[in-house]
Amino acid sequence: MPPLRRSGSERTDTIKLPTRNAAVLAGTDVLVVGAGPSGIGAAVGAAEAGARVVLAERYGYPGGCATAALVMPLMSYHTQHPAPRQAGAETLFPTDHGLSGGPVVAGVLTRLVDRLVARRGAIPPSPATGYVVPFDPEVFKLVAFDLLDESGVEYLLHASASGVSGNPYVDGVVFETKSGPAVINARCTVDCTGDADITAYAGGRYIIGRERDGAAGPMTLMFRMVGFDRARFMDYVRANPAEWYGVHGLWELIREATLRGELDLKREDILLFGTPHEGEVCINSTRVSGVFGTDVCGLTHAEREGRRQMEQIAAFLQKYVPGFQNAYVVQSGATIGVRGSRRIIGGYTLTLHDVLEARKFDDVIARGAYPVDIHNPAGPGTFMRRLPPGESYDIPLRCLLPTGVDNLCVAGKCISATYEAHSSIRAMPICVATGQAAGVCAALAARSGCSPHAVNFKAVQSELARQGADIRGVA
Ligand SMILES: Cc1cc2nc3c(=O)[nH]c(=O)nc-3n(C[C@H](O)[C@H](O)[C@H](O)COP(=O)(O)OP(=O)(O)OC[C@H]3O[C@@H](n4cnc5c(N)ncnc54)[C@H](O)[C@@H]3O)c2cc1C
Repeated sequence: MPPLRRSGSERTDTIKLPTRNAAVLAGTDVLVVGAGPSGIGAAVGAAEAGARVVLAERYGYPGGCATAALVMPLMSYHTQHPAPRQAGAETLFPTDHGLSGGPVVAGVLTRLVDRLVARRGAIPPSPATGYVVPFDPEVFKLVAFDLLDESGVEYLLHASASGVSGNPYVDGVVFETKSGPAVINARCTVDCTGDADITAYAGGRYIIGRERDGAAGPMTLMFRMVGFDRARFMDYVRANPAEWYGVHGLWELIREATLRGELDLKREDILLFGTPHEGEVCINSTRVSGVFGTDVCGLTHAEREGRRQMEQIAAFLQKYVPGFQNAYVVQSGATIGVRGSRRIIGGYTLTLHDVLEARKFDDVIARGAYPVDIHNPAGPGTFMRRLPPGESYDIPLRCLLPTGVDNLCVAGKCISATYEAHSSIRAMPICVATGQAAGVCAALAARSGCSPHAVNFKAVQSELARQGADIRGVA
């Protein structure tokens, strides 16, 4: 049976639904919607700022892309001093990050990484990992629960937000649950849905895709293979230095398999990441283009197409790549990975120049050092540009405050940034940092009974500094 395609027009073929009652489940100071990297940061940040916090999530566990979509390494959050190693270096991690001037994200992220490492669920960042943090998604779930429990965050799982009460002043969010519709009222809400769902429900302004043509970055179904013989693979890489560079490679084998009609890869290379487990790799090589994360029919198609590509890639690796002969797919993401969908229009929109020129802002609440990393929306190719050596850029508080909506902060991959700047700010460590800042801002707004727009950025900075966040020591 093929994936359902929409018949008729979305705009004209609608019916009016009957009004209904919803159970009021709770009232709280801060409600965080979405328990991905940004939601975890927001919930912990708000709770540590003294707020009563409820975190609501549509899946049965926290982590967002990190767990549900199997996006397994935390990308580098360290400044870089590039010193490219030779092609074919013996690694399953990025090879060209050189040495680092140190991390630019701390706070909740440091606690998360330390906990992952302590539970043998991650490899700490170092030159050997290219400063990425490979982690085990099952350990990530446990560590995230621990952090939430210790901070006193109350959470509600299996609750999918479908609307708001109050517009444009958000004073509660409606959730679809197995117990029926439910509402959680809050003095201030943080939208960490990755899709800016709450902002959209409240009538806030947003943009989807590339500014000039609306094209959206491709989606990727991530998967893990186990039974992988790392030593054999490394022997192959050493013997074929032109075939592998960092986490990318197999160009020649791909070309040959494509000519034989065995492979129909939508990107130019295979992208593999090592994990904390010797016999496992995580594969980021499927690509589904022309689909939007806010279109249910498109998502349905992408889930099917992603698995078709996964099967083909796994068969190619097993047949032709030494080290994969006995490897098999142990898991694919519970959901296809959506790189970007809605981005809010906030008080400031971060740009490509802000990132690449490492711009600083008075109202800095988070920092990033991850390169601009744009996956071609239309076909193969990835555009990568690094910051100047040793540099980082600031993210201003205004990027987290949506225009046209009140009582709402936004964090993670849907903050106010251009299509190009988004390709850097979406890295998970940066999402944890913007989450922590949004949580603090929401807690301060709830405490003083004011709009988040009226919270003094210096108060946010000083609370973030107290919580150990790295904001260049400005507070
Ligand atoms: C294929 C792919 C590869 C990537 N590779 C890397 C990488 O290697 N390293 C890296 O650091 N980053 C990587 N990223 C980027 C990174 O994973 C995301 O940008 C990041 O996870 C975004 O965090 P977030 O909290 O904003 O959103 P998400 O991680 O998407 O979390 C959003 C959460 O909100 C929940 N939610 C959504 N809507 C609702 C709703 N209506 N009601 C209730 N809950 C809701 C979701 O279930 C989810 O748990 C990759 C992304 C993709 C898609």
